[in-house]
Amino acid sequence: MRDTLRINGERLLARLAEMANIGATAKGGVCRVALSDEDKAGRDLFIEWCQAAGCVVTVDQIGNIFARRSGSDDDLLPVLTGSHLDSQPTGGKYDGVYGVLAALEVIETLNDAGIETQHPVEIVSWTNEEGARFAPGLIGSGVFAGEFELEHTLAITDKNGYTIGEELQRIGYAGQAQVGERRFSTAIEIHIEQGPVLESEGKTIGIVRGIQGMRWYDLVFTGQEAHAGTTPMDRRRDPVAGVSRVMQRIYALNEVYAPHGRVTFGDFKVEPGSRNTVPGRLTVTLDFRHPDSIVLDAVDREIRSIMTAECLALGIEGRVEEIWYMPPVTFAPQCITAVQNAAILLGCSSKVMISGAGHDAMYLSSVIPTGMIFVPCKDGLSHNELEHAEPMDLIAGGNVLLHTIQGLANPKTW
Ligand SMILES: [Zn+2]
Repeated sequence: MRDTLRINGERLLARLAEMANIGATAKGGVCRVALSDEDKAGRDLFIEWCQAAGCVVTVDQIGNIFARRSGSDDDLLPVLTGSHLDSQPTGGKYDGVYGVLAALEVIETLNDAGIETQHPVEIVSWTNEEGARFAPGLIGSGVFAGEFELEHTLAITDKNGYTIGEELQRIGYAGQAQVGERRFSTAIEIHIEQGPVLESEGKTIGIVRGIQGMRWYDLVFTGQEAHAGTTPMDRRRDPVAGVSRVMQRIYALNEVYAPHGRVTFGDFKVEPGSRNTVPGRLTVTLDFRHPDSIVLDAVDREIRSIMTAECLALGIEGRVEEIWYMPPVTFAPQCITAVQNAAILLGCSSKVMISGAGHDAMYLSSVIPTGMIFVPCKDGLSHNELEHAEPMDLIAGGNVLLHTIQGLANPKTW
């Protein structure tokens, strides 16, 4: 019975479509940014469905929603599954919401089949995953995991000066439950891939083994301002010459770690910024990502030595300012195995992979054994109104989630 159990795919697709009506945009996407009226309407609908499915709903002080289905042994820690209902201003119909509604579909399926799991199962919808209205993102899961402090987070403002705390009150989601007090045995998040790998390789399920790490820098080059016409090239101390050499060497360094390294010089500030003056100073941002912390550390050393060598050769000053370090996340072996087992049971083609994007599962993994499942999305396109996932893949992912949760919530019988 358990092995042949399948979700009700029609119901999942119908609910995804109904949720996509809330904040629907002309181009076929959604605008349901965190703590807006549309976010409230989406939350209300989700809770209505959870209560109709017999779940007990709790909202915590940062507005995270938990919906609990009892287990046969209610003293056991629940298995947590879910994602987020907020979207980008020009977001798609699947980013986040798929993980929440697939989780609900798993509970409905267990209800329909009259199956009791040993562990309770809880669905979660995290507050402000996207970070579009209130920066940074991943706030609900971040406060839950102790990454951000609650009071400080409630005081974060949007561009109109409204705080998270005020907006939670306004939409009726400033809950009572203490953030982070709930305990869970394991956590699983299903999400569209938001990248092109599964689609291009013709695979249905991504078994996510971790999330790549990230280092952010400002590279600051200081030379000397000079006249563009009268200063001979060999008399210049030109920071632009420095940045061009350093960038080439960092691109080349990244090749050594292909195909995983990601290097982005996203923003340049040139001072004074005049067409006919050799700049005195240039600052460039560097975003470097890789799944392996050993590589991230090696690259950190390399960047510093490249800066020193190239700036010395040009007679300019080079400084590396570290802005942020997010170490790579490695998901829990028991969660990876549970996803793998479910994919095999269902005969789905799969690929073990690393997530290029951050997700709620990232912070969660520091406090709960956590895993993720990916399904393909068309052309790898996300944070876009045209975001699309094939119904067949969404249903296959739902079934993998169902059997993953069955495995994690019934450890003795699996
Ligand atoms: Zn998302």
